[in-house]
Amino acid sequence: MPPADNVMEKLVSLAKRRGFVFQSSEIYGGLGSVWDYGPLGVELKKNIKERWWRSMVHEREDIEGLDAAILMHPKVWEASGHVAGFTDPLVDCKQCKNRFRADDPRLKGPPGDPNTKCPVCGNKGTLTAPRMFNLMFKTFMGPVEEQAAMIYLLPETAQGSYVNYLNVLQSSRQKIPFGIAQIGKAFRNEITPGNFIFRTREFEQMEMQFFVKPGSDGEWFEFWRAERLKWLQGLGIRAERLRWHQHGKDELAHYAKDAYDIEYEFPFGWQEFEGIHNRTDFDLSRHQEHSGKKLEYVDTATNERFVPYVIETSAGADRTALVVMCDAYHEDDVEGEKRVVLRFRPSLAPLKAAVFPLVNKDGMPELARKLYDALRGQFNVFYDDGGSIGRRYRRQDEAGTPFGITVDGQSTQDGTVTVRDRDTLKQDRVDSGRLVDYLRDKLAG
Ligand code: ATP
Repeated sequence: MPPADNVMEKLVSLAKRRGFVFQSSEIYGGLGSVWDYGPLGVELKKNIKERWWRSMVHEREDIEGLDAAILMHPKVWEASGHVAGFTDPLVDCKQCKNRFRADDPRLKGPPGDPNTKCPVCGNKGTLTAPRMFNLMFKTFMGPVEEQAAMIYLLPETAQGSYVNYLNVLQSSRQKIPFGIAQIGKAFRNEITPGNFIFRTREFEQMEMQFFVKPGSDGEWFEFWRAERLKWLQGLGIRAERLRWHQHGKDELAHYAKDAYDIEYEFPFGWQEFEGIHNRTDFDLSRHQEHSGKKLEYVDTATNERFVPYVIETSAGADRTALVVMCDAYHEDDVEGEKRVVLRFRPSLAPLKAAVFPLVNKDGMPELARKLYDALRGQFNVFYDDGGSIGRRYRRQDEAGTPFGITVDGQSTQDGTVTVRDRDTLKQDRVDSGRLVDYLRDKLAG
């Protein structure tokens, strides 16, 4: 494997070349740490999100789905603590105008000190003392840009689940323990974003809030830790690249009783991409206090009243997509030639198969097109008749397409085609009439 930095560079360049991820507004020079998903990337991320939704909402009877709006009442963020506490200490360089986190490892010496150098322009004494900076994006609602109408873009989906807790509970007739799952956009004006889609200013979260009776929270916390790890292993992520990190006392949010990050060994090191948090009754109690609306749960069997505890599983869809891409990236040697291949689980792969006529004559393109049309109704497939067959295979390897279906001379005689497996490179001869069943079988993983 090439050195780590190199892997990220290669991945970013492959992502652009093959249409996974593009820099936002690229023709205008790009917008800092905002990315767009291209034709293959949108499929990959959608497959991850769908798998998450299925496992959380469809396969469980105790979790309901929700899609709360991005714009919420400003008091939500006062109650949640984001207005007061969602801040990072920041340092500005008066000379080059760059901005850093006060804990940026490139800063050698205390910011504000006349001897500390700016890590970008190298000038001494140009850094300001750290100042607090709120990470929430502000915008204005209504026609007049006045303070009263200032609202925030949500920095996490969780609050939408808390403020709708009673609505969901009552409309779904759930009983505690039960959960609310959401997939949605979140916005954070991160100071030092970077590492491609790892830390961005606009991203998507897949979050589930599980409401439990106080006292049962420890057990549910462990349950959800085990479930989440199982789910990630189901994505095909190598177990040796996953690890737990338990928050120490200094890292725990003030309201959290316990928290674990799931970390992945990215080419740039071990980093969190999902968190499991025991948030206690903090969120619902705060909303109860700030809204004046009772958010207690009444256990009809025992007549007990309590504010539920919340166990949260919080994952970034973009970071999970980056994990899946990093884990799938391989460079092989095939008969002396280098091959770049993304070994996605077939169920996650953006394209499931590509159809190729071996040559563009002798009835092969017509038959290949017919097959392509038949497969399109069932799977996301691609048709390619450009260039040598070897090059067409390589292009699909880079896209992570698990199967290459080639229509050759024999196909026009007996209706069979070859199916090339992306990983083993083995070719099966399959009757074209059986192709849908054949692929469905292989794509189930
Ligand atoms: P970090 O410290 O890495 O910024 P965090 O601890 O603030 O993350 P949480 O608030 O727990 O993260 O958010 C839950 C998940 O949301 C993270 O594990 C990550 O996958 C995703 N996430 C958070 N911030 C970003 C971001 N700026 N860009 C992309 N994904 C993010």
